[in-house]
Amino acid sequence: MHYATIKWTDIANGEGVRISLFVSGCTHHCKNCFNQVAWDFHYGSAFDEEIQEKILKELKSDYLAGISLLGGEPLEPQNQEALYPFIKKVKQQFPEKTIWCYTGFVLDEMSGDLVEKHKNTQYTKALLSMFDVLVDGPYVEELKDIRLKFRGSSNQRVIDVKKTLHAGKCVLYLE
Ligand code: SF4
Repeated sequence: MHYATIKWTDIANGEGVRISLFVSGCTHHCKNCFNQVAWDFHYGSAFDEEIQEKILKELKSDYLAGISLLGGEPLEPQNQEALYPFIKKVKQQFPEKTIWCYTGFVLDEMSGDLVEKHKNTQYTKALLSMFDVLVDGPYVEELKDIRLKFRGSSNQRVIDVKKTLHAGKCVLYLE
C-alpha cells in the first residue's frame, strides 16, 4: 500500500488531536473529491515498516487521542490487507486511543461487512471491529453541507461501530 500524506496533529478528522493517515487508491471517483491525487494506488510513498514504526512511536504522545484513516479509500481490498496488521498493532499497543475510519463504502450493520459485497475480504470484519468510529458513504456533491461535523455530505453517517455491531442496527456516534 502507498499513502498520500500524514498529518501528525490533525483536529479536523475526528475528535481530539489525531494522526491522520491518507492512504492511496480509491475507485469511487466522487464528483469534486477533495483529494483526487490519491485515487492512484501508487501515489505517494510506500507504507513500509519504517513509517509504521514512526506512527506507533508518535502515538505514545499523551496529547494524541488516536488515529484516523482517510484516503483515498482505506477499505479498498488491497488497502484492507495492508492496514489490518498495522491497526492490530495500534489496538494492542494503545487500547485507550480511538481509531476513526473514513470510507466511501457503506456499512451493512446487520452483517458487519460492507454493503458492496465484492469489496469484502477476509480482513473486513476484523478490521471494522477494531474501529471506534466509521464515517461511511461516498461524498455526494449535491448533498454537501458545510455545517456538518466530520463529514462532507448529508448522506454520510458518523457511526459508533462497536454499538452498531453489537445491536445489529446503525447507532450513530454523532447526529
Ligand atoms: S471516497 Fe473519498 S477519496 Fe474517494 S473519490 Fe470519494 S471523496 Fe475522494
